[in-house]
Amino acid sequence: MNSKPRFRLPGLPGPFPKKTLVAAGVAVVAIVAAVATMAWRRWPESPRPLAYGQFEKKLVEGGVARVKIAPGELSGELVEKVAGKAVRFRTPWPNAERDERLAGLLAKHVPGGNYEADAGPSAGWSSAATLGILIALVATFVVLSRMGGVGSVVAFGKSRHKLYERQDDPVTFDDVAGIDEAVGELREVVEFLRRPEKYQALGGRIPKGILLVGPPGTGKTLLAKAVAGEAGVPFFSLSGSDFVEMFAGVGAARVRNLFAQAESKAPSLIFIDELDAIGKARSAGGVGHHDERDQTLNQLLVAMDGFASNRGIIVMAATNRPETLDAALVRPGRFDRNIVVDRPDLVGREQILKVHARNVPIGEGLDLRQIAAMTPGFVGADLANLVNEAALLAARKNKSQVDRHDFEEGVERVVAGPEKRQRVIRRDEQLRIAHHEAGHALVARSLPGTDPVHKVSIVGRGAGMGGFTMYRPEDDRFLHTQSWLIDHIRTLLGGTVAEELTYGEVSDGATSDLQRATQVARKMVAEFGMSPRLGRVSYQTQGRSPFLPGGGANDSSWSERTAREIDLEVRRILDDALRSTRELLERRRPALEAVADALMERETIDAAQLQEILDRFPDAP
Ligand code: ADP
Ligand code: ZN
Ligand code: MG
Repeated sequence: MNSKPRFRLPGLPGPFPKKTLVAAGVAVVAIVAAVATMAWRRWPESPRPLAYGQFEKKLVEGGVARVKIAPGELSGELVEKVAGKAVRFRTPWPNAERDERLAGLLAKHVPGGNYEADAGPSAGWSSAATLGILIALVATFVVLSRMGGVGSVVAFGKSRHKLYERQDDPVTFDDVAGIDEAVGELREVVEFLRRPEKYQALGGRIPKGILLVGPPGTGKTLLAKAVAGEAGVPFFSLSGSDFVEMFAGVGAARVRNLFAQAESKAPSLIFIDELDAIGKARSAGGVGHHDERDQTLNQLLVAMDGFASNRGIIVMAATNRPETLDAALVRPGRFDRNIVVDRPDLVGREQILKVHARNVPIGEGLDLRQIAAMTPGFVGADLANLVNEAALLAARKNKSQVDRHDFEEGVERVVAGPEKRQRVIRRDEQLRIAHHEAGHALVARSLPGTDPVHKVSIVGRGAGMGGFTMYRPEDDRFLHTQSWLIDHIRTLLGGTVAEELTYGEVSDGATSDLQRATQVARKMVAEFGMSPRLGRVSYQTQGRSPFLPGGGANDSSWSERTAREIDLEVRRILDDALRSTRELLERRRPALEAVADALMERETIDAAQLQEILDRFPDAP
């Protein structure tokens, strides 16, 4: 119940297009019709199962009115009636149609020669059913392909690329902010695409393949589009996941097609998103072998070797896992130029906010720098989302400008999902949450090195969060000292310790606090070498290939005894932090109560209000 920015899950796909829904409807109707047609013939009354012996007995007694002989089965009607209808029967009998003794019995005992060989369902009905099934299949297929499932089956080798022929409103570098280094490196590429002849005349070597590397949402796709937009060349794009096909050879055919089309329109830009989906290191025999992907990858390698970059074609690709790429892909002459697209820093975030706020009326006195300071860890996509949320919130309140308040609420939405004011919380639970959050806030404010508290709230939002304490780092921190980490652990423990002091026991509401505190402690011991007992040694599992000897799931190069010592050290760090946090909060009990009271009264308090309370109850060590 301690909240730093976290990313909302991307929304589910929006409503499907009308055509898809119609096709889905047709599929359902056709399936129902087909099933009903087939079942109709059998359902009116379910036939009574008779053993052959019973059947023969009935037959001889004259109790059988009519008989149908099908391969392996006899069926028909008995003389016996229920509710005015003849009782139907079914008797399994292998070779029924070739049993001569049976034929004799039937001839003798079935009245009026009412026995026949069954020709199967009547021709009319069966063709109707077949037609129904066919329609259902086609409709299902259409639905699936529209939803992106098996569309490739229809498209076969054709690239489903989006071709951006010199658009009216192309993306340019003005739309990209906060990643200036990447933009700087790409300017040369734009120059080349604009005037390939100039470079050819000078004999300069132009990169063929440029790999954009960075976490999702940092603007890689945007950058590639901007390069094409700035240069005014066609943009051919494909996503790596499109290549992973169900039919062998389809992916390879697509690659050929893509390069052929791009070459016919040179100068042009090819963009392959999610390169890792095809470019994973080729399987080391047997395990996890994926033939299709290998073929696609091979074709890509061939295609990249096959064109000379002086024709004015540049291939760009994006990935967030460069380490998984096949070595052959990153060799000279292929994707040999890496451009890192990092998460934006404070200034970068401010610039990105400015780009997206261009078309939004911003209220006077709203400082986007402050908004940027509230959003460490946000990537470009999150910030775009934030501006959108803030604008929506302002519109909902019929405001003519978006103000700071809308942005703050927007941050909270992007971080933790929409507020749930309607949720009914029991008052005793609310009180516990108030003490818990007051604990986090008070510990954070009492330890000099920690991030300042921005806001404390007991309004539930998102699943499993009773409240939150929001911190606002003054600047992005890249390095954390040992004492900062320990203070961070104390802050995380502050919530449960406050509950313990107030109620004598803890609740299950603090799972994630404990998880994170434990994680930090474990990293301190095993990765950062901060434990005197284990020494300045990294006990991190390296991402070693499962194919190498000694690799695999339980890959650790240290002994079980060391593993136990790590556990004990983690435990010691947490116990120490717990003890000092307890001391601190016990000492500041009056302040804790005052903050909890204020939370119960106002539900949310900001930094200034918190400061005002703390001034009234100063620390007296
Ligand atoms: P990636 O391809 O790295 O996952 P995208 O390029 O698809 O990220 O980014 C998604 C959206 O987020 C973009 O369309 C843009 O609106 C916004 N965005 C991301 N990064 C930036 C940035 N650096 N500057 C401006 N907008 C950005
Ligand atoms: Zn908490
Ligand atoms: Mg992308």
